Order: sequence, then C-alpha cells, then structure tokens
Amino acid sequence: MTTVIDCVAIGDEIMKEIVKETEELKAKGITPGIATLLVGDDFGSKMYRGQVEKFCEEAGFNYVNENPPADATEADVIAIVEKLNADKSVSGILPLRPFPEQISDTVVINTIDVNKDIDCFHPFNMGKLALGEATFPPATPAAVIEILERYARNEEKVDPKDFFEGAEIVVVGHSNIVGKPVAFLALNRNATTSVTHVFTSMKGNLEKHTTGADILIVAAGKPDLIGPEQVKDGAIVIDVGINRVKVVDDKGEPVLNEKGKQKTKTVGDVSFDAVKDKTKAISPVPKGVGSVTNRMLMKNALRACKINNGLI
Ligand code: NAP
Repeated sequence: MTTVIDCVAIGDEIMKEIVKETEELKAKGITPGIATLLVGDDFGSKMYRGQVEKFCEEAGFNYVNENPPADATEADVIAIVEKLNADKSVSGILPLRPFPEQISDTVVINTIDVNKDIDCFHPFNMGKLALGEATFPPATPAAVIEILERYARNEEKVDPKDFFEGAEIVVVGHSNIVGKPVAFLALNRNATTSVTHVFTSMKGNLEKHTTGADILIVAAGKPDLIGPEQVKDGAIVIDVGINRVKVVDDKGEPVLNEKGKQKTKTVGDVSFDAVKDKTKAISPVPKGVGSVTNRMLMKNALRACKINNGLI
C-alpha cells in the first residue's frame, strides 16, 4: 500500500510551529523579518516575491520589498544589500534571481551578511553545509529532508536518525541549489548517497543507479524522466521537479480550454501514475515539496533572527 505523502499538511504543521515561535519572540520585543531583493521585473521572481510576502504576513514577520529597476547599477544593488545588512528589522535577505546581466550574482551574494543569508547562497554557508554544520540549510533541500524526517516519524514510526543511517539515497540532478545541497544533507545524516546528473543519463547509467535507491530524490526539471523501470519496488520517491506541460487526450491530441488555447498542467519529473504503486511512499506534484519550501525559508529566518539577537 503506497503512502502519498501529504506535503501540504506538513507545510501547514511547520507554519503553526513558526507562528508559535514568532509569538514567543514578539513577547520578548523581537520580530523576525525577511527582505526580498528583486532587480527588475522577472515574472517567476515576482511570483515568488509575492508568496514570500504572503507567508510573512501569515506568520507575523516584518517584510521589506526592495525592487530597484532593471537598469540599476551593481553599485546601487550593493548599497541596498549593505543597508539591509545593517537593518535590525531584517533577519534574512533573499536575493531573487536572475539579476540583469550588468549585476554579478557572485558580487551581490558575497555582500550579504552570512548571518542573514537564509537560503544559503553565500560560499561561507555552503562550506558550512558541506562540513555538516549548516547554519541555514537551503530551503528546497531542507524541505526534502524535513518531509522525509516527518514521514519517518509519523508513518514508519522510526527515529529519523535510524531512517537515514545507511539508507541508499540516490539524487538525480546536481545543481547548486537543489541536487548538491540535498546530497550533502543526506550524507551528513550518514546515508549512502549517490548523485547522478545529465552525464549519467548520457552514458545510459541512470537506471543502474536509481533502481538501487531506497530513497530516490529527483530534481532534474525533466517531465517523465523517471518511470517505473527506474524505481526499485518499495522505494520512497521525492519528486522536486516542477514542469509546465501541455495537456493531451488519450490519442495524443491537444486538450483545449474555454478560450480555445491548449491546456497546460504542472507535473514533476516522475511519471506519478505509472510509478506510484511501485513505491512505499511518494510525494506528489503539485502540492509536493513546493508546499514545504517556503516554510523552510521562514524557519531559517527565525533562526537568523535568534542569531542576530544573541539568543543562540
Ligand atoms: P537545474 O539547475 O536546471 O538543474 C537540473 C539538474 O538536473 C542538473 O544537475 C542536470 O544535470 C540534471 N539533469 C537534467 N537532465 C537530466 C537527465 N536527463 N538525467 C539526469 N539528470 C539530468 O534545476 P534546479 O534548479 O536544480 O531545479 C530542478 C527542478 O526542481 C526544476 O524542475 C525546478 O523547477 C524544481 N524546483 C522545485 C522547487 C520546489 O520547491 N519544489 C524549488 C527549486 C526547484 P547537468 O547539470 O549535468 O545538466
């Protein structure tokens, strides 16, 4: 019997914990806060900015919106980061990329106070993550681990420590924001961790690795990359991918909406319907890892707030 992991419920549970901790901090006269830094008006970044603002409102956080125009200079943006570094109402700074080409990602990220770097972009915090001493585990990888830990505790009734130790974990994707950091988090929990990527696929070796996984974490951004033949019977599958695809009917013909345009839907990297029954547990898309990611960012902001106020 497969468990479809209820990531929305996990996200809601974490939000309740965040609200409670925020109230406790506010009782001490301290309010956590997040600042987003969006240069210009990239559509995806604007959507994400709006979500962060909404969650800050729900949790009772301060929220600061820095949105210089697309033709801002690097010096302008650095000045904003330095202002946010000094602003006591801001616990964490979230740069929303891509930046316009005149602004270097590296220069901006290296300017962020390491104790306000709540999505772990700064090389100092990435180094700490690799050493197993993460101050701010990045939000999406942290969401994957949090989902697995809560699944272990609530569904399998095992200590997450025992759940991870010696487990065969295979990660598909080695990006700096998802694949690599989630592999470090798994390795730091003593899982036997392998990382695969596009070159693994190009050599025809992806299946060889994924079929050995007790826990398969997929973050490639490729719909239907993982089908039943890539999954071991009884594996736990966490699908991080978010892809927008066109909807077709049984004959492969486009399905149109009321305006006569082809319908689209959001899917992950795993062929959910085909894979589900082979697994012990699987996270869906939508309503999957994404339901927990922003909450992990807020947990990091709470932690930053406590660090910056000398509470930890
Ligand atoms: P990315 O930077 O494009 O990285 C994708 C990774 O997948 C790369 O390491 C790439 O390898 C690998 N890959 C691509 N095709 C592959 C194949 N055929 N076989 C094996 N590996 C392959 O993407 P990302 O930022 O890590 O994000 C990954 C996915 O997660 C995207 O769909 C994104 O939208 C989603 N995402 C979800 C959340 C959430 O909260 N749920 C948050 C962030 C991202 P190479 O580098 O070697 O090409």
